Amino acid sequence: MNNKDGNHAAFNGTSCFSFIPKDNPNQALRIRRLFMASVAYVLNGSLAYFSYLAGITEWPGVAGLLIIIPAVNITFYLLIRTGFNLRFADPSMTFAQMCAATLTVMYVMYYANESRGLLLLMYVIMLLFGIFRLNTRDFFLISMITLMTYGTDIILLYLFRPEGVNFHNEFLQWIVLAIVMIAFSYIGGYISSLRRNLSTSRSELKKTVENLNISRAELEKSLSIIQEIAIRDELTGLYNRRHLMELLDNEKNRSLRGNTVFTIAMLDIDHFKKVNDTHGHQSGDEVLRTVSAAIHNTMRNTDFCGRYGGEEFVLVLIQTDLKEAMICAERMRANIEKCRFPRIGDGFRITASIGLSEYQLREEIETMIARADRALYRAKEDGRNRVACET
Ligand code: GH3
Ligand code: MG
Ligand code: MG
Repeated sequence: MNNKDGNHAAFNGTSCFSFIPKDNPNQALRIRRLFMASVAYVLNGSLAYFSYLAGITEWPGVAGLLIIIPAVNITFYLLIRTGFNLRFADPSMTFAQMCAATLTVMYVMYYANESRGLLLLMYVIMLLFGIFRLNTRDFFLISMITLMTYGTDIILLYLFRPEGVNFHNEFLQWIVLAIVMIAFSYIGGYISSLRRNLSTSRSELKKTVENLNISRAELEKSLSIIQEIAIRDELTGLYNRRHLMELLDNEKNRSLRGNTVFTIAMLDIDHFKKVNDTHGHQSGDEVLRTVSAAIHNTMRNTDFCGRYGGEEFVLVLIQTDLKEAMICAERMRANIEKCRFPRIGDGFRITASIGLSEYQLREEIETMIARADRALYRAKEDGRNRVACET
């Protein structure tokens, strides 16, 4: 049987039988409570037996318990162990167990004679079990049932065995029991509600923590989006200047540690102002996007590139000296020249000039950029659409 407690077949043929189910903590707890109740039953039975030995309780009172105690406990054990209890609103069957206990005590009390007063204490032990589950109303109900069973005992005794029974005494005991029961119902109900509130708060806390986990995942996702936005140039999607400078700084440190070489290429679109002036700012933006894509597609995976300024880009060529960089830059220049801009016009072409500089050990990144800038200036001076370098 499968249910909300995840209870599997109680007597699972494939696994070894154990008295307390190992696969279901809730059911295991219920069985443990039943064992505690069984101990109380045995205590009750022992009291009745000693009372019998002392010549107070009559033999049928003890003999009956020999049948009632195993019958009640085995029945409840089987109900829980087979998972049948899970069909009830309260799978612990607290109320039913308490009723069974009340009737058991009622039975013994009928034969208890002078020890009847002492046996009343068994009711208190029985009520203690209700603290696990019952609310104040249930407590009152079970108290009423208890008082009724004791009252029934008194009536039965009055009708069938009036000899030797002090009815004044019994009535007084009934009144005391009623007071104890009322007090117990209040206190027991209160303790039970505290326990319930505690378990509700615990499950709410668990839910909150679970929700927090979901929002944490969403938060991490949002954070990574924000981080990505923070390092990218909005128009071209390439790294922005700030991130480019950070990466260049890292590259400088790596070069210092590993004595490796790297080169930067400063690329500037030729006569870009004219594009804006002639075709409009939007066409200028389109040129920037297309050229950026061309740069990105021509670049090696290990290299990186950022938008340095308006129509200026800086490419960082990793583990590349000036000679190799000249080849890469030339390829880049040629690819930009091949770019097409259908929205601006079929014959529309763009060119770019590139200035190169190789990192000199221990120099500042700004110094390196300044040399690339000078090389770029020379490329412009020499007629644009070309690559120049400065050592
Ligand atoms: P040169 O060949 O000497 O580089 O000439 P140029 O016209 O490309 O150089 P200049 O620096 O004079 O012009 C750059 C222009 O780029 C000026 C500015 O209006 C334009 N620009 C800068 N950022 C953007 C942008 O984000 N979008 C557009 N459409 N234009 C931009
Ligand atoms: Mg410029
Ligand atoms: Mg320019």
